[in-house]
Amino acid sequence: MKICPHCKVNIEGSCQICPLCQNYLEGEDTPDKWPLATQLKKQSLLYKIQLFIMIAAAMVCLSLDFMMDLSGDIHWSLLVVSFVVAIQLTIRHIFRTWFNLSRAISISIFYVSVLLMILFAYIGLWNVCILIVLPILWTTLLVVDLILVFLDKSGNAMAYLLIVFFVNIFFYWLVLSVTKEAHIVWSISLMITAVALIAIAIFKNKTMIREIQKRLSM
Ligand SMILES: [Zn+2]
Repeated sequence: MKICPHCKVNIEGSCQICPLCQNYLEGEDTPDKWPLATQLKKQSLLYKIQLFIMIAAAMVCLSLDFMMDLSGDIHWSLLVVSFVVAIQLTIRHIFRTWFNLSRAISISIFYVSVLLMILFAYIGLWNVCILIVLPILWTTLLVVDLILVFLDKSGNAMAYLLIVFFVNIFFYWLVLSVTKEAHIVWSISLMITAVALIAIAIFKNKTMIREIQKRLSM
């Protein structure tokens, strides 16, 4: 039992500081009555650090752009600010739905893809986005969802993995049929998609079949 030498109260658990007067407690620790939220504390600190860095960077960009007027016509800093807002919304979304990580990540990547398409169209590099950035992004998402299928106990990850499979194969086919030529990044993406499909067909075939039956109401 811990004792506060100033307030003369007994306190159970392993806390070091008196909740009444904030002085150090004396005496032996007893087992805690409730779990300590150390994980949440660590996450919250990381969250605040990244929030600070991002807002500071956005402020620097805004002041460089507007006060010094280095850029002329286009205020590129507004684009930076909208990206910071989008990234923060994404992080909040992931924190709130961490129990279904594959859903949070997949939906976030979808939003990021739409934002990137707008950004690349804006700077006139639409082709770079479609032929290089999107296949890299979606193949990364595929690999992340594949890992989550093996880690996740709830079975939610499989649905998102299958969706990403179809999106990847559909877009590969779409790009191929529109441009009429093979593109190296999409080809690599298709190969990784095929390897991932073989991996779940061998290791997670029951989960995959159950998921497809569930989705198609068979
Ligand atoms: Zn006290």
